[in-house]
Amino acid sequence: MNTSFWLDIAVQTPAHSGVGGLLSYRSPQPVAPGQLVRVPLGRREVLGVVWRAQSEAPAGIAASALKDIGAVLEGISPLDEAWLKLVQFSAQYYQRSLGEVALSALPPQLRDLDPVQLARRLKKLPAATAPVQAAVGPTLSTQQADVLQQMAQQAGPFLLFGNTGSGKTEVYLQAVQRLLQADPQAQALLMVPEINLTPQLEARVQERFGVEAVVSMHSGLTGPQRLKSWLAAHTGAARIVLGTRMAVFASMPQLKLIVVDEEHDASYKQQEGARYSARDLAVYRGRLLGAQVVLGSATPSLESWYQSRPADAAGDPGGRYVRLHMPERVGAAALPQVRRVDMNHQARRAVLSAPLLQTLQDRVAKGEQSMLLLNRRGYAPVLHCADCGWKSECKHCSAFRVFHKIDRTLRCHHCGFTDRVPRACPECGNADIAPMGRGTEQLEEHLGELLADVRRPDGGPVRIARIDADTTKLKGALESQLAQVHSGEVDILVGTQMIAKGHDFRRITLVAAINPDSALFSSDFRAPERLFALLMQAAGRAGRDAGQGSRSEMLVQTFHPTHPLFEALKRHDYPAFAASELTDRTAAGLPPISHQALLRADARSQDVAQGFLSTARSTLEDMLTTMPGGPELLEQVSLYPAVPLSMQRVADVERAQMLLESPSRSDLHKVLSQLHAVLHHLRSQPEHKGVIRWLVDVDPQAI
Ligand code: ADP
Ligand code: ZN
Ligand code: ZN
Repeated sequence: MNTSFWLDIAVQTPAHSGVGGLLSYRSPQPVAPGQLVRVPLGRREVLGVVWRAQSEAPAGIAASALKDIGAVLEGISPLDEAWLKLVQFSAQYYQRSLGEVALSALPPQLRDLDPVQLARRLKKLPAATAPVQAAVGPTLSTQQADVLQQMAQQAGPFLLFGNTGSGKTEVYLQAVQRLLQADPQAQALLMVPEINLTPQLEARVQERFGVEAVVSMHSGLTGPQRLKSWLAAHTGAARIVLGTRMAVFASMPQLKLIVVDEEHDASYKQQEGARYSARDLAVYRGRLLGAQVVLGSATPSLESWYQSRPADAAGDPGGRYVRLHMPERVGAAALPQVRRVDMNHQARRAVLSAPLLQTLQDRVAKGEQSMLLLNRRGYAPVLHCADCGWKSECKHCSAFRVFHKIDRTLRCHHCGFTDRVPRACPECGNADIAPMGRGTEQLEEHLGELLADVRRPDGGPVRIARIDADTTKLKGALESQLAQVHSGEVDILVGTQMIAKGHDFRRITLVAAINPDSALFSSDFRAPERLFALLMQAAGRAGRDAGQGSRSEMLVQTFHPTHPLFEALKRHDYPAFAASELTDRTAAGLPPISHQALLRADARSQDVAQGFLSTARSTLEDMLTTMPGGPELLEQVSLYPAVPLSMQRVADVERAQMLLESPSRSDLHKVLSQLHAVLHHLRSQPEHKGVIRWLVDVDPQAI
C-alpha cells in the first residue's frame, strides 16, 4: 500500500507568475497547511509554505509527474490560517504572486538554513512564555484616560489624533499593559516608520515591559537577529513586536493589538516588489483577527482623516474609523510660535533672510540651539557654464548630476554615475564653470561666513553641523551626530527632512524652513500634505525644554506667506489644513475621494514603454466592452493615457506609466484583475519584447 498526500505549496516565484502561483507536490505523510517545508524546484531545494492539502492528485497532471517534498521543518509550528489569509489578501490586492509575498514575509535566514542548522537555532530560543511584569507608568492625564476608556468600549479601528508630546506613546504603552494584564498570552505589534530613528522608543518599551518581552523587526538587523525575533514572535515568547513596515507580516498567533505610530509616514508604503501599505494591511489584519488597531499621528494622512470623519446632518454616515483627539500637550509645553518671513521683501536671491540671520545670531549668543530645514530637491548644486549654458546632466538619467565639493566629483543621485569635475566646460571649453544653487554643504559653509563674528556665551565661535544623506552614509554616523546635537555640542544644525523625523530636539529653540515653497506647486498632489506634516513635526519636536527664558520659534521663509498651508501652520491647525486640502482633492476627484493604481512599464525607449501601456489600455477597453458588466465598470474606472514618469529616464531605462482611477475601490480592483491577464498575454507578443519590466502600484504614494 502506498498512500500519497497532495500539497499546494507557495515558493519564491518570479514576480508575475500569476496571482495564484502555487506549485503542487506529493508527500508520503500528511502535512498541515501553514507548515514550512523544503521542496525541490529545478535543480535546487527551496523553502515553501504549505497552502492547501488536497485529497486527490491535481487534475490534468499525472500523479507520477509530481515531485515529493523534501524535509518538513518540524521544529516550527505551522503558520496559522489568519497569516495565510493576510498573505493571500496582500498578494491579490497588490497584484503579486502568492509565493513572492509569502516568502518575502519570512526572515531570509529561514530560506537559507538547512533543517539541522535550524534545529540548532531553535534550541537556543527561550522556551516558555513568562508573564510580563510591567513597570508602573505615569499617572494618566484626563485626556489620556479618556482615550483609553473609549478604546475599551469600542472596537475601532481608531485614529488617535494628537500633537507631538500630547502623550500618544504613553497611551499605546498603557493599552499594551492593559491587554497583557487581561490576557496573559496576548501579543501586541507596535509599528514605527524608521526604527533606527527611534532608539528612544525602543528603550522606553523595554524599560516598561522588560527586555525579554520585546523584540524588534526591521531591515537593520542581521540575518540571525531577524530570525531570532521572528521565531520569538511566532512561538509567542515575544509579547511585543516593535518594528517597521515589514513587521506587519510577523507571525503572531496571539496578536490582539496593533499600533501604527506616525501613521501618515510614507515609509509604510513598500516601494518595490509587492508595493504594500503596512498601515492599510494593519487595518485589514486587525479586522481579520478581531484585534484592536490604533493609528496615531499629529498630522494624519488625509486617507485616515477622511476615514475617521464624523457623520453629518447632510446624510454622510461618516467614516469607518473612530477618531480620538488629544489636543493638549503633556506638561503644557507651548508649541513654537510660527513666523512667516516674506521673501518678496528680502534681497533678491538671498538664501538666508535678514530676520532669520538676526534670530540665529540672538539664539547663538544666548547659547540656544537652532535647526535649519532644507528641501533637498532643487537644492543640490548643479555645475553650470555661464557662456554656453551647459549644465552637469547625467548621460544616463533625466537628471542633473550634483557637485560634491568634498571630493570634487559630479555625482548622479539616481544612478550613481560619478566622475571628476571637468577642468573646463565640456561643450565650449570655458574654464569658468561654477556651481549653481546651494546645497546643504554650501549652506553650511555660507552660514559659517555670515556668523563668523558671533560669539557663544562662553566666547567661542559658532558650531555648525550638517546632517543629510551624505554625512550619514556610514553605519552609526547618524546616531553619533545626533548625540552631539543632544549633548549640546552643536549650535546650528543644518539638514534635510531626515533631521525632523523622530527625534526629540528638546533644546532646540529655533526651527527654520529655508525653502518650503516648491511643495506648494508640485505636480505631486501629496506634496503639500507631506510639507505640512514635516513642518508640524519639526515644530512639535523642538523646544520642549526651552525653559522660561525664551519661547521657541519657527521661521518659514516663503514667497507665499498668505498661502492657506502656512496660515494653518501658524495656528498649528491640522484640521483646518486637512479641510482645505480635502476640498481641493474633492474638486479634483483625487484620493482619498477616489482610488488609484498605476501601471508602469520600463524599456530602452519611451516608444516601447508607452506602446506597451497603450496596447494594454486598448486591449483592456475592448475586453471590458464585450464582457458582461464590463461597460458599467468602464464607466466607473478611468484609464488615462500613457505618460512618461516625471523622472523619465534612470540608468538608461525609459519609464512610462498609466493611471487608473475610480471612485469605487472594488470596481478598480475588478479592472485590475482583468488587466493582469491582459499584461501576461501582451508580454509574450514579439512587438513588446523590448519591455524590460512592468509593475502595478496599487494606492501609489506619488503619481
Ligand atoms: P507623543 O507620543 O504624543 O509625542 P509621549 O507619550 O511621548 O507623547 O509623551 C510626551 C512626554 O510626556 C514623554 O516624555 C512622556 O514620558 C511624558 N508623558 C506622557 N504621558 C504622561 C503622563 N500622563 N504624565 C507624565 N508624563 C507623561
Ligand atoms: Zn560652456
Ligand atoms: Zn544618472
